[in-house]
Amino acid sequence: MLKTLSVCTIFIAILLASPAKATEDLIDVHIHYSHDAWEMLPPEEAVKVLRDAGLKKAFVSSSSDEGTQKLYAVAPDLIVPVLRPYRKRGELGTWVRDESVIGMIEKKLKENTYAGIGEFHVYGEDANLPVIRRIVELANEHGIFLHAHSDAEAIEFIFAQNPNTRVLWAHSGFVPPKKLAEMFARYPHLTSDLAVRSEHDNDGTVDPEWRALFLAYPDRIMLGTDTYAPELWYYVIDHANETRVWLQDLPPAVARKISQENAEALAEWALKK
Ligand SMILES: [Zn+2]
Repeated sequence: MLKTLSVCTIFIAILLASPAKATEDLIDVHIHYSHDAWEMLPPEEAVKVLRDAGLKKAFVSSSSDEGTQKLYAVAPDLIVPVLRPYRKRGELGTWVRDESVIGMIEKKLKENTYAGIGEFHVYGEDANLPVIRRIVELANEHGIFLHAHSDAEAIEFIFAQNPNTRVLWAHSGFVPPKKLAEMFARYPHLTSDLAVRSEHDNDGTVDPEWRALFLAYPDRIMLGTDTYAPELWYYVIDHANETRVWLQDLPPAVARKISQENAEALAEWALKK
């Protein structure tokens, strides 16, 4: 009797210790795992956060790339590695004029598998500097995407260099839905993520202007949290749950594209070889 009871107790304890698994119905394309994040949250724990958030996949980049490689080693089924051109924090404003970045990127692309290069920051005419020109060439040579935190002008310059480039526009460029629709119409290979945007979510219902955009371009938009600071890792699960609420306000086929199918297609295209 006592033995049965203790076995039961252990079983219940195990059940309570593993939280109900959320369905793996989301892909987050904007996760960073930089050195200060892995000091706070070791790779196994970070992977647990992503799995507990119910993520099917997470596109991860980091300064330096070591963080991405650490996560990828623990969970290759979950992590889609993206190569950030920053070796450490603080290179965000200087990297576009630092031509030593090119060699680093070329070397990494030979050594490891990546679905894209980014997330990087470039604005306006800086998108025509040699470092960006070379990155656009490399993305096209390797058949991978660029994850660009940029204004519309820089995106235009990138497509002017090569209209076949696949660009994932971080934070949907922080532009309003009308401008985004205009850009999507002009550039068939432009996609975007909703990281750090919240205007589309009116307490669980979708804002009408954003709804029109989602319905007009259901294949172009993806989800992102943007863990740019280590403490934002604590927000990944809440963000996934909040996202599930407003997604329910969209037609299911559109919600599925935004929540996972668009990101899945991009990752499959990039990692096809
Ligand atoms: Zn970011």
